[in-house]
Amino acid sequence: MIKIAGAGLAGLTTAYELLQRGAEVTLFDSGSGPGSTSVARYAGGMLAPFCEGESAEEEVITLGSRASEWWAKITAVHRRGTLVVAPPRDRAELTRFARRTRGHQLLTHAEIAELEPALSGRFATGLFFKEEAHLDPRRALRDLAQVITDMGGQIVYGHPAPKRVDLNCTGMAAGLPGLRPVRGEMVILRCPEIDLRRTLRLLHPRIPLYLVPRDDHHVMIGATMIESSSTRAPTLRSVHELLSAAFALHPAFGEASLVELGAGLRPAFADNLPRLIEQDGVLHLNGLYRHGFLLAPEMARRAAAKLMPQPANIFAKERNG
Ligand SMILES: Cc1cc2nc3c(=O)[nH]c(=O)nc-3n(C[C@H](O)[C@H](O)[C@H](O)COP(=O)(O)OP(=O)(O)OC[C@H]3O[C@@H](n4cnc5c(N)ncnc54)[C@H](O)[C@@H]3O)c2cc1C
Repeated sequence: MIKIAGAGLAGLTTAYELLQRGAEVTLFDSGSGPGSTSVARYAGGMLAPFCEGESAEEEVITLGSRASEWWAKITAVHRRGTLVVAPPRDRAELTRFARRTRGHQLLTHAEIAELEPALSGRFATGLFFKEEAHLDPRRALRDLAQVITDMGGQIVYGHPAPKRVDLNCTGMAAGLPGLRPVRGEMVILRCPEIDLRRTLRLLHPRIPLYLVPRDDHHVMIGATMIESSSTRAPTLRSVHELLSAAFALHPAFGEASLVELGAGLRPAFADNLPRLIEQDGVLHLNGLYRHGFLLAPEMARRAAAKLMPQPANIFAKERNG
């Protein structure tokens, strides 16, 4: 029996990989249900390796290249690409973004209108990252927890994990040396006046923002790169910036209802890359930073291979034969 502390993104993805290998798995989570206390509940759910390449190491693109395929086995993945635009005064940002990334094509205003009719006439050019995708993080965590239970895994909610576990996936709570929190803030709006189909990134020299569509005319808006360990609710300044971004994208957002405000602490090491670390006989999977959905599948596969070098049925065959 393999015991895992934390049924957030790292814990659930590794449990799935272990179950695929024939392991018996129990997860312990202090939250009340799937994803209730996971940082991932505040995530955009972008599976966007090429856009992330703007500021991330090449390894993020390599490790994340098959994430949407992995998630598509578990939950609904929307493979509609990412559209990157900039207000006219910040056109230089678009050129800079294009230089620092790959996997995109330059769009004219007519092509933008074809992809996102709601943005018709609002942006002269944009970048389209066709291979990128997004998912709904809360649904993905729920669906993954359900698949794990269906496969015979156990998830015990409402209690801290026991002292001895095989794998620790408790994010910031793990208290690993060098792990730092990177705060991410978000708002969820409901705006029936505007219909967006794919992730949009709005480039801004100071605060780059992204919008990810959800069901029923909901949209999640997030800001990246606010380095702080504060756990307080989003500040008025950041909410103002998030909402101004929506308004800059389309004035119809002025009619939107504010559904939720939130902030989460993303666990990160100095190089912002995830790690598998052995400490006092326990394997840790941590440091997923802002790439949890993107990188967890591959990191989980590696963690499962360490915990269970060979699938259970191979052991059984060898023992019997
Ligand atoms: C605003 C925001 C936007 C983001 N957008 C994206 C995105 O678009 N794409 C992307 O790929 N990633 C995104 N992320 C990042 C992603 O959410 C994180 O990388 C990921 O959730 C980290 O996973 P984790 O398993 O390490 O931590 P978590 O998902 O937080 O899981 C840790 C779990 O451990 C549990 N726990 C803690 N202590 C204990 C204990 N003692 N005993 C038992 N259980 C315990 C907690 O209850 C929790 O469920 C975003 C994050 C934020 C905040």
